[in-house]
Amino acid sequence: MAGPDTPRRLADLVQVRQADEARMLEERVAETADAGAAVKFAALVKDVLTAWINAFGSLTAPGAGAKLAGLLADLRSKVELAARGLPGRAQRTLSGALEEATGLGARHAAQFLTRASGRQHETPDVTVSRGTVREAAFLTGRVAEQLQMSNRLLTPRAVSGSGWRGVLAGVGAARRAAGVVRQAVGWGVQRAVNDGAAQVADHYGALLLWVAEPTACVRCAAYSGHITAPGGKFPGGLSMDPNSRVGRASPIEGPPLHPNCRCRAVPWLPDWDTGPGTLPAFLRDQALLAVAAGEGRPSESRAARRRAAQALLAQRGLSARVRRQAAATAAGRT
Ligand SMILES: [Zn+2]
Repeated sequence: MAGPDTPRRLADLVQVRQADEARMLEERVAETADAGAAVKFAALVKDVLTAWINAFGSLTAPGAGAKLAGLLADLRSKVELAARGLPGRAQRTLSGALEEATGLGARHAAQFLTRASGRQHETPDVTVSRGTVREAAFLTGRVAEQLQMSNRLLTPRAVSGSGWRGVLAGVGAARRAAGVVRQAVGWGVQRAVNDGAAQVADHYGALLLWVAEPTACVRCAAYSGHITAPGGKFPGGLSMDPNSRVGRASPIEGPPLHPNCRCRAVPWLPDWDTGPGTLPAFLRDQALLAVAAGEGRPSESRAARRRAAQALLAQRGLSARVRRQAAATAAGRT
């Protein structure tokens, strides 16, 4: 077996290859859970738009009487048809995937240890954690709740004051049901994957190293390259943006930090070096550069990224490249 891999290659393994595998699993589970519901809900918007124009002439017409009642009754039954089985199917699919996701995370962690040490590490047996099982068990209720809300909004009483916009709100609630499924699958799968990795770390007496996505949000970027304290937890409340830091937050187990977070934790042996030229240093540099460049998530405000870049400038020991980038971002020139 060749010697240990370079930090760049290790980062690539976790952030690209393993992350892609986890994402593919997530996609597969989401597709089975959704079974076309999201597309059907989206199509209903077009459908009811045509029906509304046919019935009332224009979208600004208020809509009333038997025509409105009929249109809404038809729409409610279409929503029901599109949503048939969704709450239960989503929960069953996610619950059924937790074992595979935990196993995948365990395999990834063993593969990482093998490549980082240059010595073969077998994958130990892992079990699905009770926390992930418990969370998945709420999914039926959360999806059903959105669908009930849609049903309540799509009644003549609810729509009479708001017209077409009221109809959109009702269909929007149904579409959110599909969004809840997508997000819960992402969260559940990523959590199980990281759970598997944490169990492998335990097995080998390792700590955990946080590997953020290369384009992480300002909060996750603050964790990249961070190693758990003895006791196995990361500090809570970190962020590169001073405004979203939380002082005295409780420690956290690891990623995911928030919905749609695809950060990973990998085992890190306590006697491994963390100084310059190592993977943790590589990850910290990568995160600094990304924050300096103002890169971030579509969900983040530009202001948050600008504040993060500004906060960076106050740090000592930045490379000239990071400093230049951060100055440009802080000044709003990116
Ligand atoms: Zn993250």
